[in-house]
Amino acid sequence: MTLFLGEAILLRMNRKLFELVKTTTVTASMEGVQKSNTYAYWNGDGWADVPYRLRDQAEAMFQAQQGRETEQEALRDEELMSRWFRESFNHLSQHIHQTAKDEGWWDKERSDGEIIALIHSELSETLEALRNGNPPDDKISQFSGAEAELADVIIRIMDMCSARRWDIAGAILAKIKYNKTREHKHGGKKF
Ligand SMILES: [Mg+2]
Repeated sequence: MTLFLGEAILLRMNRKLFELVKTTTVTASMEGVQKSNTYAYWNGDGWADVPYRLRDQAEAMFQAQQGRETEQEALRDEELMSRWFRESFNHLSQHIHQTAKDEGWWDKERSDGEIIALIHSELSETLEALRNGNPPDDKISQFSGAEAELADVIIRIMDMCSARRWDIAGAILAKIKYNKTREHKHGGKKF
């Protein structure tokens, strides 16, 4: 997911006013949030890129003019990562559910109990893999058995949340936020 954010300032140089524009490209992905800035100025006829050697100066002008908004920036990054996670999760859930439907697993409506039992069975397979020393998985051997079985748990959960139109991604984000506010070991629980 990519956002483009624009800021503009007016500079007075040699008794002339110049408009300086900064465009920040913010990209959210698995690697986190990446940002890059480009600077352009109005030279009277059109927009021209600020030469590379002057970019630090251009950035300093923006910072002097507007002050650092680090806290706001951090909040914006968090918001962007949340949106990226939610959209990716929901998109992948729909894809998983469509595959399961194409395979015929949803020809008849499935009960909540059946789906939950199948999620349990994938957790049990994870435990079995670990009991057997967690060898490479027999279908995707670049991953261990436990990794592959936990993937099955999550795939089944995503299939269910798409079928039921539940916003699990939103709930995960809300829970992460809530958990940060809880007491140490949730008020003295042993485990
Ligand atoms: Mg399995």
